[in-house]
Amino acid sequence: MKNKKITTTAGAPVSNNQHSLTSGKRGPVLLQDYQLIEKLAHQNRERIPERVVHAKGWGAQGTFTVTNDISKYTRAKLFSEVGKKTPLISRFSTVAGESGAADTERDVRGFSLKFYTEEGNWDLVGNNTPVFFIRDGYKFPDFIRTQKRHPKTNLRSAEAMWDFWSQTPESLHQITILMSDRGIPQTPMHMNGYGSHTFSFWNTDNERFWVKFHMKTMQGHKHYTNEEAAEVIGETREKYQEELFGAIAQKNYPKWKMMVQIMPEKDAENTPYNPFDLTKVWPHADYPLVEVGEIELNKNPDNYFQYIENAAYSPSNVVPGIGFSPDKVLQARIFSYADAHRYRLGTHYEALPANAPLNEVNHYHKDGAMRFFDNNNKNPDAYYEPNTKGGPIEDTSVAEPPMAINGDIRRYEENDTYGDYKQPGNLFRMFNEKQKQRLFKNIAGAMQGVSTEIIEKQLHHFDKADPAYGDGVRNALGIAKEVV
Ligand code: NDP
Repeated sequence: MKNKKITTTAGAPVSNNQHSLTSGKRGPVLLQDYQLIEKLAHQNRERIPERVVHAKGWGAQGTFTVTNDISKYTRAKLFSEVGKKTPLISRFSTVAGESGAADTERDVRGFSLKFYTEEGNWDLVGNNTPVFFIRDGYKFPDFIRTQKRHPKTNLRSAEAMWDFWSQTPESLHQITILMSDRGIPQTPMHMNGYGSHTFSFWNTDNERFWVKFHMKTMQGHKHYTNEEAAEVIGETREKYQEELFGAIAQKNYPKWKMMVQIMPEKDAENTPYNPFDLTKVWPHADYPLVEVGEIELNKNPDNYFQYIENAAYSPSNVVPGIGFSPDKVLQARIFSYADAHRYRLGTHYEALPANAPLNEVNHYHKDGAMRFFDNNNKNPDAYYEPNTKGGPIEDTSVAEPPMAINGDIRRYEENDTYGDYKQPGNLFRMFNEKQKQRLFKNIAGAMQGVSTEIIEKQLHHFDKADPAYGDGVRNALGIAKEVV
């Protein structure tokens, strides 16, 4: 193969790529050595801000195939017929660790999918758990602060985590999942994904349904205990990248079944739990899983930075037939994910190869840094809207049916009588004895060094979910029950 010739970024040929330009054999270096300056300057700019959360990630490209007709619930074209395929890109991540963190740490995993549909990109930006620690996005910055480093010690702080959790009882459901066997998946291929939030579907008759998305691993669940994970980290910090990249390189393509739970719009007024509460699931017995399709990851991106680091997932990316819900955390994320990408990648991040939709993009946003693509749709006179110059116009046929949700405006405290303890208790009672013992041990381990007062407060939450839950943790901690 004939080598290509090196050029500067401006395309000029480079005659010598080994030595800087100096006055005499021993230097000094001349300021006119533009090749050297360009090389050093580029290196200085090779990093972009890492994500504030979900910094460490792994991903691949793939395909979504419809296996069951759900068009009676949604008009979204990607679901329009059995057998239909839509390309996608995925990114999995840990929440708290920085971009160089070890892969097999106990943490919630991000599970993000970007579907390149014919009507624009649909992003399902979920986790490997069906619930989250909080039900109001207002609490998110404080919660994440407790997962990150202490301002003085620059260490992660168990005290801060349990201090926050013990005063946030709605976190108990997610804590129970995090501290259970599922808290350390062996690879991203061996875990489920969940859209977690409640979203909405609407069909061609303008009927709305509330919907929850589930991606069930077809590789089976596999998890590490704390001890196994520590051993893995001792051998490699990059286990997930090795396993995911390796499986796809060997054509062992991982797959997930996409399922949905569907709730007719009016039901939301009568469920005993708030169906828009991110700390709660919809019991399967009430809303059974309906099969939708299959996700297969079958291509390692040619360039990790270009396709995985630059991939910008946002719950704001929905397509006609898929909509939002009143879920307060979802509402906060609709703003904050797109905003994070504008900061991290720049104003025109949606035009980067990982994010650019496959269909034609027509908008009136104009210039700004890195506007590297055509901005007038070959029609320079139509640079404002409305215009009589033949520019792109709105399409009223994709209007979402109105959402009839009203109320008094105020900063509501939780008013759901269903409570914070029932579902964590249900989950706890589902575990067998060995799983329970591992849960107690994991929690006791995570509480090492935490103040007694905070531990006591948290133990009362475990008691309320199930007295055996509190007692088990006490036993693992080696402390007696407080007599009140
Ligand atoms: P079901 O018996 O119908 O469902 C139990 C669910 O629990 C299954 O989806 C199973 O996932 C999942 N599960 C099993 N082990 C764990 C674990 N260690 N961590 C998290 N999930 C686990 O019961 P219900 O629908 O009535 O729910 C009972 C409890 O199950 C809930 O309170 C919730 O904590 C948990 N759960 C419920 C989900 C839901 O959407 N209803 C989803 C996930 C968990 P799998 O099928 O993949 O094995």
